[in-house]
Amino acid sequence: MKIIAANFKMNGDREFIDNWFQNFNADTENLVIVGLPPIYLESSVQNFNKSNIKIAGQNVSKFNNPGAYTGQMSSAMLNDVGVEFCIVGHSEAREHLCEDNESVYEKYNCLKSFSITPIVCIGESLEVREANNHLHFISDQIEKFSTNEDKIIFAYEPIWAIGSGLVPTQEEIEEMSSHIKSYFSQQVTVLYGGSVNSKNSSEILNMNNIDGVLVGGASLNAEEFANIAQS
Ligand code: PEP
Repeated sequence: MKIIAANFKMNGDREFIDNWFQNFNADTENLVIVGLPPIYLESSVQNFNKSNIKIAGQNVSKFNNPGAYTGQMSSAMLNDVGVEFCIVGHSEAREHLCEDNESVYEKYNCLKSFSITPIVCIGESLEVREANNHLHFISDQIEKFSTNEDKIIFAYEPIWAIGSGLVPTQEEIEEMSSHIKSYFSQQVTVLYGGSVNSKNSSEILNMNNIDGVLVGGASLNAEEFANIAQS
């Protein structure tokens, strides 16, 4: 079983999401996780959660206790409405919301304290890759997690591959997933994300040490995403 995760980002509305789930053919043995905008999480959990389809948040507060954090959503709130997975550390959140490795780790711990499974996104810029610093850069991003005993899900998403149509070579993806896994004594799940579509998904899902994919743009089309989930 692989994990096939969708990230809708800030796309869609109620009607779009209803239609998407109506058109999505969930006939797969893989676990499908759909990351939705926060306002649609509760109704989507009620209407669309199944044993092999789970609704995910796309971000969460780094603060665990209720308080004066205007505009934020806590892990307790996600848990309250039945959300079982949540993306943290997406490069777009790191860029636009100024998130750093420390805050991503805090978010991870908040989610864990409510038994929500975090999907921790990591990935280097093109500049870092071209300087051949990518392994070191990823080590920095995962270092805080290394003493952790839990089973962790990382999504390796090179920033230069997100929404660009560029996909790293098989060797580059396998090098990174082995690097991430070798950092931990316990079992770690590594997804690949960045310009995944139904044409390249089988090849990626067949790679050594890749346990699934995280899909942005191509996940918005239910038929396309079903083809990925069934590949
Ligand atoms: C993402 O944003 O998580 C992502 C992988 O995007 P895309 O599939 O569009 O590259």
